[in-house]
Amino acid sequence: MHPFTFAESSSTEAAVRAVGAEPGAVFFAGGTTLIDLMKLDVMTPVELVDINRLPLGSIETGAEGVRIGANVRNSDLADHRVIREHYPVLTEALLAGASAQLRNMATTGGNLLQRTRCPYFRDVNTRCNKRRPGSGCDALSGFNRSHAVLGTSEHCIATHPSDMCVALMILDATVETEQPNGSKRRILLSEFYLLPGETPERETVLSHGELITHVHLPDLPMARRSHYVKVRDRASYEFALASVAVALDLDGDTIRQARVALGGVATVPWRSREAEAALQNQPARLETFRAAADAALAGAKPQHHNGFKIELAKRTLVLGLEELVGRK
Ligand code: SF4
Repeated sequence: MHPFTFAESSSTEAAVRAVGAEPGAVFFAGGTTLIDLMKLDVMTPVELVDINRLPLGSIETGAEGVRIGANVRNSDLADHRVIREHYPVLTEALLAGASAQLRNMATTGGNLLQRTRCPYFRDVNTRCNKRRPGSGCDALSGFNRSHAVLGTSEHCIATHPSDMCVALMILDATVETEQPNGSKRRILLSEFYLLPGETPERETVLSHGELITHVHLPDLPMARRSHYVKVRDRASYEFALASVAVALDLDGDTIRQARVALGGVATVPWRSREAEAALQNQPARLETFRAAADAALAGAKPQHHNGFKIELAKRTLVLGLEELVGRK
């Protein structure tokens, strides 16, 4: 048992100042990842700064798109009328994640910062560069069926676990933050995550004490025709072996523009520009979809136990595109 203090924050300014002033402090919102990892001794913060009472719990809609407060619960976001109608891929991805109870607690900001489910990361008796930098990676020579085939490095092959973030990747989402010095910034989600490289312990561009306050989705007409497909070992309450978020802008049977992102197979939520290029200005038919799937996985690097993910991800992408085109 590691002792820690717990303090409720009354303002965003006070919360970022409190965390910024203490290297061992973290923000506490839904707690669905943090409490798990504290019980396992994987995370041992000395101070929890509770942000649940901050005014970050609303969804604002307008001509510019949607602005989602960081404390909006996953279940409320999935059920919002504008999200369901204008960004169906996001509702589908959220409802594919975790369980109903977890979705009622988990927040938008917390989902963006989910930690990997790599079993070696979650077991403090093993070597893990992400948990203890420079200690090694037991997944490389261990059981790596659930690990990534895209975006890996010789220091980490952990898969990013989120469904929501895969959907956000094709929606041009922007993350809004506030820093301990009071400055605010907007970060494109496409520039938010860091590949593991030589520093797998650094997962995002956020600095210590920087708080996610909102996520902005621009108005994106093609997102109305969007879809999320998730393949996993069991039908619910399970992480993806492979997942896809797709959106299509169709002119008759021709694809004017496409958006593609992959989950469950990469170290970060993975936007595939290669697949999008293979789909653009092509007829919306099976051969095109297969070519896009080949392009998306062309750079995949399998480990000992996860080579099956390459074909699985290709088939999941083809299925997602077929289902989307088949919709009225
Ligand atoms: Fe740690 Fe990454 Fe290796 Fe898993 S894959 S043990 S998270 S370094």
